[in-house]
Amino acid sequence: MADHAPTYQADCPFCRIAAGEIPVEVVFQDEAVVLFNDINSKAPTHVLAIPRRHLASASELTDADADLLAALFRAMRRVADEAGLKGYRILTNVGLEAGQSVFHLHFHLLGGRPMAWPPG
Ligand code: 5GP
Ligand code: ZN
Repeated sequence: MADHAPTYQADCPFCRIAAGEIPVEVVFQDEAVVLFNDINSKAPTHVLAIPRRHLASASELTDADADLLAALFRAMRRVADEAGLKGYRILTNVGLEAGQSVFHLHFHLLGGRPMAWPPG
């Protein structure tokens, strides 16, 4: 039986990834976060950083999540440093209009090529 986070939702793909029920290429994980390669990579490095706990998006973050956010950004910096990235972009889509397609909070870590601005 998988060790589910307290907020595990069986219909959420990223809850299932965090529980090890959908295989992914994990690049870092600890008790609070999982980082894995995006299945549809948009850059030489394209990693998704998720909390194990289910939050639909950044719009659900509260002051109580300060440590969780720090853990996510610490892990992304570690992965970026290990990949030797000279620069990188971290973004999160909030809502359908912004392009969010999976409603479990995740940060995209993109790097390894020049980044245009503004995003599309
Ligand atoms: P969003 O569009 O919500 O900002 O980003 C969702 C991301 O999750 C997309 O880049 C998509 O390629 C990625 N993704 C969706 N399902 C899976 C999956 O099962 N495995 C992996 N590795 N990535 C996924
Ligand atoms: Zn979830």
